[in-house]
Amino acid sequence: MREQILVLEALQQIDLELSELEIHLIEYPNKISNLEEEIKSSKETIQNLTDQKEDLDKTREEIENEISQNEESIKKSEEKLFEIKTHKEYQALQKEIAETKKMNSDHEEKLLDEMEKIETLEKEIAEKSEKLASMESGNQEKIAEYKLELEDIKVAYEPKKKQKEEAIQKLDPEIFPLYEKIFKKNNGEVLAIAKNEVCTGCYMNVPAQLFNEILTFTRIIQCPSCQKILYCEEEEKSEAQTG
Ligand SMILES: [Zn+2]
Repeated sequence: MREQILVLEALQQIDLELSELEIHLIEYPNKISNLEEEIKSSKETIQNLTDQKEDLDKTREEIENEISQNEESIKKSEEKLFEIKTHKEYQALQKEIAETKKMNSDHEEKLLDEMEKIETLEKEIAEKSEKLASMESGNQEKIAEYKLELEDIKVAYEPKKKQKEEAIQKLDPEIFPLYEKIFKKNNGEVLAIAKNEVCTGCYMNVPAQLFNEILTFTRIIQCPSCQKILYCEEEEKSEAQTG
């Protein structure tokens, strides 16, 4: 039985290491994709702002075109004023010129408005791009680190699984299901040392008769309170035998 305890001890250690590797196998890809997502979402935000700015640029261009067309037509009309013979025609043309000028002053107001919006957007884009640049390089560095660590974990995982299989082979077939049950129930703590008739896993008393059986390793004995498999250290066994 002593040998079986040693196998259980080794198996428990391997399983704990496997659990940790399995956590990392999930955790590292998550960390990597979070960092990638952060870069992607920041780029999307900047792209959105750039699209908005392009729309505003188009509107600005349209207004500018209208202003220059209006200026052209004002210039032509003003030249025409000299050729006009009747007062009525003169007045009508002057009215038209005034209306066009008014239209242009409205356009110019709108243009200022648009340019202000464009300026604000440009500032925002510049700030966000600067932040993105430093965030992206930091994230890429971390991603590279995590990818290397993930490779190491993958390399370590398969041999560890093989070690587990080998350990299970050395175990009595009826002990393994019990081991698995306790491992799951107690977060990987399967074994506990029994000392002075006390289970050091839960610090409850172990009945004297049971404790004697533990000392002689005649069979697998579970703690009546926490269900862990109990064993004693060699010195306690020899003390018990000599004493
Ligand atoms: Zn116990």
